[in-house]
Amino acid sequence: MDPSDRERYSRQILFPGIGERGQEALLRAHAVIAGCGALGSFHAAALARAGVGRLTLIDRDYVEPSNLHRQWLFEEADAAEAIPKAAAAERRLARINSSIQARGIVTDLTSANVAALLGDADIVLDGTDNFETRYLINDFAVSRGIPWVYGAAVAAYGLTMPVIPGRTACLRCVYPDPPAGAQPTCETAGVLNVIVSAVASIQVADALHILTGAALRARITTLDLWAGGIRQIDAPPRDPDCPTCARREFPYLEESRRAPEGLCGRNAVQIAAAGRPVDLAALAARLAPLGAVRANEYAVRFAVPPYELTVFPDGRTIVKNTSDKGVARSLYARYVG
Ligand SMILES: [Zn+2]
Repeated sequence: MDPSDRERYSRQILFPGIGERGQEALLRAHAVIAGCGALGSFHAAALARAGVGRLTLIDRDYVEPSNLHRQWLFEEADAAEAIPKAAAAERRLARINSSIQARGIVTDLTSANVAALLGDADIVLDGTDNFETRYLINDFAVSRGIPWVYGAAVAAYGLTMPVIPGRTACLRCVYPDPPAGAQPTCETAGVLNVIVSAVASIQVADALHILTGAALRARITTLDLWAGGIRQIDAPPRDPDCPTCARREFPYLEESRRAPEGLCGRNAVQIAAAGRPVDLAALAARLAPLGAVRANEYAVRFAVPPYELTVFPDGRTIVKNTSDKGVARSLYARYVG
């Protein structure tokens, strides 16, 4: 370790749980943060400050004013310019710790790109807002033996659980199937900003244990910062008949392409990337005579009242103000092609 790192991380090195060897391990580590919203932006800042040498941040969305009360990395200007979260986070992390590599990737994590994005991770932190992506992460992480840390928060309530493949229960040992029906989301039930940072802090503590090689007791933590109460129980043992970690079936890795889908709790539909890149400047020029267009290097936003389309360079498109997939598909076909 060079003298500047030794000085920078001195208080963390003094902490016996980490020490100089732990710090060296962090500097060599690669953490992937899946979802860079409320949980993920906290993970990213904490791991950058702790000196994790490589961070990859994956997020499909852009910053909006309603994110700012709980998404610590972002500022008003990011929302005003509708900067993608992964790009805004990368920029901010470079100012927080310029000695590490932090890379933001503006994309939707899917079965098609999960191997490329998570394949060389030492750990994955769950900052997603939906079960489909969590089951995808669980399938991939178990298939490759990569530890990951589940986290979720809504209203004043949150839950975390680390998954160390082969050693602790995986997500499907505990929850064999995603919950059925509509679930409360931050958009429908609201969220207290400090529950997010509390849940994310526990996830980061588990990640630091795992990355430094410290012994970690796998526990499920549930907490409610309004009614009160923090509860930790040992994670249950692995299910000997778990479809994922026992039978090694990975259905979430097999879907090759996803149909248009509603975005968790938002009145919006996402159309998956078509597999061919979009020339954003040309698209903006084409749409300009038809309505209000805002473009930057990351996306083109086009208003077709009451709808708004946001098109990313890989063709992925978010259609706002509808939850009707047919309407979304038709707008996409009409304006993007
Ligand atoms: Zn399992």
